[in-house]
Amino acid sequence: MKLRNMKKSLLFLSLLVTVLSCSAPNKQERPVEKVKDSIREHSVLSVLWQQHAAEYRALCHQAFNMARWNIEIRKELSDKPFAIIADIDETVLDNSPYNGMLIIQDIEFDKNDWIEWGKLESAEAVPGAVAFFNFADSMGIEVFYISNRYDVQRAETLSNLRKLNLPNADSNHVFLKTRTSAKQERRDRVLADYEVLMYLGDNLSDFSSVFDNQNNSKRNELVEELKASFGSTFIVFPNAMYGDWESRGIYESNRDWTDQQRDSIRQAKLVTYK
Ligand SMILES: [Mg+2]
Repeated sequence: MKLRNMKKSLLFLSLLVTVLSCSAPNKQERPVEKVKDSIREHSVLSVLWQQHAAEYRALCHQAFNMARWNIEIRKELSDKPFAIIADIDETVLDNSPYNGMLIIQDIEFDKNDWIEWGKLESAEAVPGAVAFFNFADSMGIEVFYISNRYDVQRAETLSNLRKLNLPNADSNHVFLKTRTSAKQERRDRVLADYEVLMYLGDNLSDFSSVFDNQNNSKRNELVEELKASFGSTFIVFPNAMYGDWESRGIYESNRDWTDQQRDSIRQAKLVTYK
């Protein structure tokens, strides 16, 4: 009985192999394509760097230290009250767990996932942020948060900021994205009533509209033109995970590239010597 079953199994297996080998397309006729196993693997080191490199932490402290010195040495007088304008993501809040999730799930940014992450209200503060913003508050400087988080994320964003004991975490001081990603209109609302001492951000468009919608060549050129502002009125935070440097720069504002094309673009833009 056992032997008969074994013969049946062998017969079935040989039939299966024959059917599969007949139905499988001829490899020679298929286009040769270099297919990567993962679409997010390329960002692993940038996320690990933000989460583990002490140099990342040091750069954040360096940025907040400069911002603090600027407050301490400021000499200007103004009829208007003083304010600071700060971006939120990767300037005040660390969203690297969201970017870690993208790698593990091997998916691209998605608005619904991003909103779901925000609702957890579990983003930690960027190193040095809580101490700096509370120092500014103690010096009578109001903080305005201008962020491109979606306006529907208002409640959880305010709550996350409050949980971290950040000052001015209220609707009068938090301007999220309603119509446009461009931030100048929101900056102008603050500038109408306040003397803005500094802008803090991880993306050049957090500082000035001259950086909006520019390619990497122009962005680098503008940074050279405005180099005296960095460390004084513009305080930059490190973000190797994402930003206009990638979407506007590396991918040239084209959201329609395939995963394969994006991979090719990354390879093509590497500067090498061989
Ligand atoms: Mg940001």
